[in-house]
Amino acid sequence: MARRSRNPLHVLKFGGTSLGVAERIAWASRHAASSARRRRTLVVVSAMAGMTNLLLRSARAAATGDGNWRKAADEIRERHRQAAEALLSGAERKRFDSRMEEAIATLEKNCENFEASGEATAQGLDSVASLGEVISAALFAAALREAGARARAVDAAELIVTDNRFGDANVMVEATEKRLRERVGPLLSRGVVPVITGFRGATTEGAPTTLGRGSSDYTATLTGSLLGAQEITIWTDVDGVMTADPRLVPGARVISRLSYGEAIELAFFGAKVIHWKAILPAMQSQMPLRVRNSFRPRNAGTRIVSGANCRTAVAAVTAVPRAHLVTLRGDGALRPVELATRALGWLDGAGAHPLLVVQSSPENSLAFALGHEEATLAGFCHPISARQASDGFVVHSSEEVGLVTAIGARIGQPAGAAARIFTALERCRVNVLAAATGSSGQRLALAVPQNSLRAAVRAIHREFRLQRNAR
Ligand code: ADP
Ligand code: ASP
Ligand code: MG
Repeated sequence: MARRSRNPLHVLKFGGTSLGVAERIAWASRHAASSARRRRTLVVVSAMAGMTNLLLRSARAAATGDGNWRKAADEIRERHRQAAEALLSGAERKRFDSRMEEAIATLEKNCENFEASGEATAQGLDSVASLGEVISAALFAAALREAGARARAVDAAELIVTDNRFGDANVMVEATEKRLRERVGPLLSRGVVPVITGFRGATTEGAPTTLGRGSSDYTATLTGSLLGAQEITIWTDVDGVMTADPRLVPGARVISRLSYGEAIELAFFGAKVIHWKAILPAMQSQMPLRVRNSFRPRNAGTRIVSGANCRTAVAAVTAVPRAHLVTLRGDGALRPVELATRALGWLDGAGAHPLLVVQSSPENSLAFALGHEEATLAGFCHPISARQASDGFVVHSSEEVGLVTAIGARIGQPAGAAARIFTALERCRVNVLAAATGSSGQRLALAVPQNSLRAAVRAIHREFRLQRNAR
């Protein structure tokens, strides 16, 4: 990881809701321009809110022969056009329009191919999924120039080198570091603000990839840590990382300070506010990460740093709705450890990240929970396939569940924490279908019936008085 220079570098990442309409982009670009007057500043942008879903929907529609995908292209053009009209003038407007039309032409070309072949491959989907970031980076850089800063949009496909695991690509760190030094370093030295597209990378052959849904946060921390940033701020639409998703628990409170370890657990187990991959580069280079609300910039937000101030056993409760709890059974010839080896190898091949794994030797069974999208892609939402049966095991059951996770640096220590969680769930008649702790000793994850998820999150939140005891 890079050494920090004497001229501090700050990375500002703006999420989709912080760029949803012209007014929000205007605030964000003014904020970035003011940062750039005081220190070296690098910006990472997501697509405008809703754009990535719209792009993916149109690609899938094209593959099924549904001509409505052309309407999506019109909608993408119209939303950006409205924002550009309010933000840009003269030459900037012209330059932006031609960049946007180039991106829309890429979308159209790909969708026509999907329509003709009747298929949208993972590689094809990645070519269109991050076009929203390409357009928003061009718009943001132009808005920054209008705000008086020197700025240049930079396509991360030319910076972030990845393998070809389309949809969830792995970054090749050394090659990426080299490109960042060569292409972004000189911009920063000249006082130019690079505006980098989040979410996006490319293979060594130049095929566009994406780093996983919601991964613009990761683009920000990765580039920041490789360039030796002093701090990274993730600007979003809530006051920081909270004790629970405020949409599920209205009394959820902001956590002012969180350790890297707790933040990874929180993000991995459903707190969408930050992508779990984003924590790792920050942790490795001990770079402080802040999560703040672009709608309420006076609030201090959350600081994610090393070590936490553990007043309570549980710091937060997360939820993953519509997960799948899949139970596999060996066919008799397989030893339990062989079942585990094959099943996990098979999950790896499907690119799945199990959220919880529970093994039982006497029954020769292995149960795991997967997020909804992964379970669908891996075919677990359907009846047992021939391939699954022929690997020496069968899918005994596959049910939709909610996953509730209690997280805290001291959760494994006081003997009472787990007991309190189970008792709180029992009190509100929530049935626990599977449970697992982690080697980190910082979490207890429980699969509960999907329709009990909200009650389970609220019960644990209440039990540890998180509405009053947030750090
Ligand atoms: P952005 O577009 O800025 O990347 P996201 O939608 O990805 O924003 O993430 C912010 C959302 O994460 C919030 O609106 C909130 O509903 C949700 N969220 C889930 N869990 C939490 C949590 N523990 N703390 C804060 N927000 C959470
Ligand atoms: N726009 C991408 C997504 O919606 C990446 C991000 O927002 O972080 O998944
Ligand atoms: Mg996000």
